[in-house]
Amino acid sequence: MIRINCPYCGERDHSEFSYGGDATINYPSLDASEKEWTEAIFFRKNIKGFQFETWHHSNGCRMWLVVERSTVTHEIKSVKPCHPNLQKVVENNK
Ligand SMILES: [Zn+2]
Repeated sequence: MIRINCPYCGERDHSEFSYGGDATINYPSLDASEKEWTEAIFFRKNIKGFQFETWHHSNGCRMWLVVERSTVTHEIKSVKPCHPNLQKVVENNK
């Protein structure tokens, strides 16, 4: 079982969240080539170890989060809001 410590709601079961995918993808501009878009959308690294992922707290505060999670052990190193300005809000409210 994966427990995710949402910065807004506290620790919750992963069933409250929806997996959003790789958080490190830099999507190309709208006028980029079809090849660039194909690579950004369909070609993924299969990382063994820690990776950054987006998760949506769909059954909670509905915020998008960046979770650093091990694909081997499911250990979670960090959880942050996706938007950097929201991270500042979290830090100011501690
Ligand atoms: Zn939440």
